[in-house]
Amino acid sequence: MRKALALIMAGLLLLSGAAAAAEDFLLGVEPEVTDITPAARSEYEADHEGCYWCTPMDLSDEAAVWKMLTAPMTVVNADMMKQTVCYAEPDENSEAVGMITGSSQGVHVLEELKDGWTKIETYSTSFHDSKVKNFNGFVTGYIRSDKLKTVKVNQKYGIIIDKLTQRLYFYMDGHLETSLAVSTGLYNSKQPYNESRSGEYIIIYTKTGALIDGNMHCDYALRFNAADYLHEVPYILQNGEKNYKGYESKLGSRASHGCIRVQMKKNAQGYNMRELSKLIKNRKDKNCVKLVVWEDYQGRQVKIPEDDTPLYYNPNKGTYYHAVANCASVKKKFLPLKAFTFGELEDEGFRKLTACPYCQPTPRRAVLEEINQVHMESSPGDVMSYWPH
Ligand SMILES: [Zn+2]
Ligand SMILES: [Zn+2]
Repeated sequence: MRKALALIMAGLLLLSGAAAAAEDFLLGVEPEVTDITPAARSEYEADHEGCYWCTPMDLSDEAAVWKMLTAPMTVVNADMMKQTVCYAEPDENSEAVGMITGSSQGVHVLEELKDGWTKIETYSTSFHDSKVKNFNGFVTGYIRSDKLKTVKVNQKYGIIIDKLTQRLYFYMDGHLETSLAVSTGLYNSKQPYNESRSGEYIIIYTKTGALIDGNMHCDYALRFNAADYLHEVPYILQNGEKNYKGYESKLGSRASHGCIRVQMKKNAQGYNMRELSKLIKNRKDKNCVKLVVWEDYQGRQVKIPEDDTPLYYNPNKGTYYHAVANCASVKKKFLPLKAFTFGELEDEGFRKLTACPYCQPTPRRAVLEEINQVHMESSPGDVMSYWPH
């Protein structure tokens, strides 16, 4: 009898332990529930099961997201380093309206015509030297049907990059496994091509080497779209020392030249760009991992945490606020950290704390409200509306 009770007690303890861990797992920033899809600007009302273009940019339906991340996709049957144009009409003499990268970029198939052409939609992936200068514009056009093929994708992993939240959401075996802070591209009037191209891709290049540009080093680079890579946040080499500071402080906001920079410091679940690249490189299912980029269209919003959402700090002169009680950035003797709440973050004593670059807790309320204000009024990734061309 006593033994049975002890077992029940142990079970209860295990359950409460699991619940506490679940509470600790914060996404940092989470998009609000929405029915806005990547094909929001389409004139067609397609409704395909598991389709990237037809699936709302919403994390709350995990099954729908996983179906989308593991569904086959249609690509142009050409080398990844070659781009193909899509035409305004089913005619090679008509206007070229957008660029599509071979092998790795998905297109939304709308209609296969009898004369050998297929009507498609996608984000135009023009780079600075592309024939058609349409930077991240959503295009509808035509491509010859014999240039298209369907590819299977990896069934264990999937990645979402959300421009709205500036987060990477990593899915494994049907579940959201973790989230990491990123920086996507930041364009300006001279470099409209810096905006990261949204869309559906597969990571084809799995040699996780470094990209070096002058004294800027980007480790663990995974290519998914001709010149676009997922890689570690850059560092500058100074007297043999790696200095990440300048780029790391920008994580969580647009900052790159088009690549997607991912946090280097390990989060609470032990993930960073290095761990991610190892899993992808050593995957058993050799099909390529799907990576989708969600556009931050007008009307999308981020969730503002409840006031009682727990945050943590080190009362012994800690300068960060944390998402978890056992953050890897803090010396063991100060763990577990002391809890306070998101509602208290602006109070005296917490006001000066900065967000921990390891566990990447939620930004402050003012920052989240600013993101929402901007997206009530505009689509920041809509380069073609703002670029003076
Ligand atoms: Zn669809
Ligand atoms: Zn932390």
